[in-house]
Order: sequence, then structure tokens, then C-alpha cells
Amino acid sequence: MSSSLHECCLKRSEAIRNEFPMLSVVENGHPMVYFNNAATAMTPKSVINAMTEYYEEYGVNIARGVDAIGYRATHLFEATRVKVADFLGAERSDSVVFTRGTTAALNLVCSSFGNLVVEAGDEIIVSGGEHHANYIPWQQLAKNKGAQLVLAELDEDGKVTPEALQKAMTPKTKLVALFHISNVMGAVHDVKALAKVAHDGGAYFVCDGAQGIVHDQINVVETDVDFYAFSGHKLFGPTGVGVLYGKYDLLKRMPPIEFGGEMISLVDVYDTTFADPPHRFEAGTMPIAEVIGLGKAIDYVNRYGYCAMQRRVEYLTSIAVEKLQAQPNVTIYNPHNYASGIICFNIEGIHPHDAAGIYDREGISLRAGHHCSQPMMRELKQFATLRASLAFYNTEEEVERFVEATEMAGDFLDILF
Ligand code: PMP
Repeated sequence: MSSSLHECCLKRSEAIRNEFPMLSVVENGHPMVYFNNAATAMTPKSVINAMTEYYEEYGVNIARGVDAIGYRATHLFEATRVKVADFLGAERSDSVVFTRGTTAALNLVCSSFGNLVVEAGDEIIVSGGEHHANYIPWQQLAKNKGAQLVLAELDEDGKVTPEALQKAMTPKTKLVALFHISNVMGAVHDVKALAKVAHDGGAYFVCDGAQGIVHDQINVVETDVDFYAFSGHKLFGPTGVGVLYGKYDLLKRMPPIEFGGEMISLVDVYDTTFADPPHRFEAGTMPIAEVIGLGKAIDYVNRYGYCAMQRRVEYLTSIAVEKLQAQPNVTIYNPHNYASGIICFNIEGIHPHDAAGIYDREGISLRAGHHCSQPMMRELKQFATLRASLAFYNTEEEVERFVEATEMAGDFLDILF
């Protein structure tokens, strides 16, 4: 790279980092290296400002009054629904239900739709690579209904191929629930091909997009998913808000699972008729500031562009993987999955929690544990792993510090023994 191009890249990287106030936090005396983006990403100022503006200028409830200020809040809330629908490539905005996050969205599909369509003797396919949020609800539904939970086989990268899904399908398969990108292995699913296998076999397809939405732009119409769930906080937006996309005709068949304000059509003495989707599923006061903040996060992603973000993530992840692979005591469980920014690894002889303590001392924040995916730990035959997860705003220097800290953690063993 020429020196002027290099300088230009540095300036751009600095300008981007300045948009994220948390990136200048100091941890244990070091500028923080935030490599825990798959847990929660940092939030840009535009999102924070939009939420502050709501609280300072028009922080009232929505859909309840006829006053101008209430109208402004309602309008911005509903405009975000349209923005989310466009972002997902959905045909209609009333296919977008706001929820508390991916977990709440998946539980809603399971408790309402799953409960409606799954019967005793049916089969529900998941994989061992799912987050608990896309595993336990289906496991419990199967248990309660007398249905069978079936695990599709994972390949060595941690994904279910269309062929493996085909193998798991039987005439009894009612529903398939799989991740878009896995939070442990960072494996990327061919969502369109998997949805086709499910549909050809007469089953519904639910997709957990918590990680996928960040790295692999989804088009819900092209992929033909029946349901797609994601959270705001992984997409550079606020916590406490998420989305369930559903095909409208399916949402229309689903009963609400929460009852209260603003989800009804008519409350009679002994019965109630419910509002049409999506409001039927949005009982009570919604996270208004967070929904508006999510809209700003989507603006941010659209402004930066998926391609540019992904180029950075893949580049940074590839150099980190290459450098870690040069350390003989490091085992990387997913050496080929650069697209997610996730590196799942262990350092020989050190418990991941102890290693995470060493990283923390160096100001490096990453995740250690089972990552809310004990089935995946079972597949890996590990109790826990380390997980570094990179975002487009991370830098080469941060990768370098991470690699040095990994070496240090390895040397820690030599000091002990
Ligand atoms: N699924 C996956 C793949 C995830 O990574 C996560 C978050 N770690 C979830 C579901 C749950 O998301 P949330 O906690 O935002 O509901």
C-alpha cells in the first residue's frame, strides 16, 4: 500500500472510531480492545443522539393520544417499522413485529406458531450449533407436545448443509429452526437453500438471524424464510429491542401470547378480539426510544454498507487467525469462518476463564464460556472456549495486541510449571 493511501485509510479508521464513544474507554490502564462484538456491538453517536432526542424532545407514549407530540413519537416508531421491512427486503411493513430481542422473537414464534402447528408425533429439526434461544424453546415445545426434537448433522465448519438437512427430514418434519450465522463457530448457513429443503419437505423454516443480520444481508423474500429474528444490540443499535419478521399470512394465524394495552380490537365481557399483526404481538408500552435507535442503527449500516464492513471484518479476522495459527499451543475450532469475525479457540492447558482474565489485564475484552450453546460445546467436546469477535471498527494494532496477549497467556504456563 502506498504511504498516502495508508494515511488515508488510517484517517478514515480514526473517523469511524470517533463515532463510537465506547471505543475510547480505558480498561485496566490500557485503551480497551473490544473483541466481544458477537455478544453486543458498540453503539454509534447517531443512535445515542436519536434516543436522547426522544427523551428530551418528544418522550411520550405512542398510539394513545391525538396530540402532536404523541403523533411525532408514533410516526417515528412506525416509520422505523417501514425501515426495518425495507432493510430485510420484506414486502410489507406489518410483517415486522418489534420484540425485546432475538430471544423474545424466537420464543414468540415457538409459543404461538409452534404451539399452533406442532402435534404429537411431529418432528422439529434444529442443530447442535444453535444458541440456547433457538434450541430450548423447540426442545420444550417438543417435550410438551409429545413431538420429537431432531438434530441435523453439522459439518466440520459447524454448519448444516442442505444435503444434511435433507437427510434429517422425514414426512413427520413440521418445522426447521436454524441459525443464519452461528455465535460459536461463526459458520454461515445457505439460508435460501435450507429454506427450500424445509419447504419441499412440507415444513416451515425459522431462522435465528442474531449474528447473520450483522454480516450477511438477508432478503426475506428471496430466501423465502417463514420467520426471521434479530436483536438491535448486535447491529450497533440499542439493547432491549429486536425484531420478528414473519410471513403475514402466518402471523395472521398466530394467537397473541401476551395480553394488555394496544393489542386488541374489542374487549367484551367474556371474550376479546385482537388487533391485526403486528400490533397483536406488541402488548403494553413498547421500547420506543430503542425502536427509534434501531432505525438509526440501520441508517448507519446502510450508510457504511455491508460490503465495506465485511471487507474489514474478513481482513482483520484472517490476519488474527493466521497469527494465532502460528502459536503451537492455540487450537482454533473454526479456522475457515472469517465472515463472522468470530474466532473460537482455546490455549492448551489454560482454562478459558483464566485466559480471559489475562486478556482483561491487558485491556482486551473477549468472551469465555459456553456462549449460551452447550449443545455446541458437546459437539466440540469442550466445557468452554474463548471467543474473540471482531467488528469493522477494530484495527490491525488491536489484532496485534490480542496476538501478543495470547502469547503471554501461553507463557503463563511456563512461568507456573
Ligand atoms: N441467537 C444467537 C445466534 C445469538 O448470538 C444470540 C445472542 N448471543 C441470541 C440468539 C440471543 O440474542 P438476545 O440475547 O439479543 O436475545
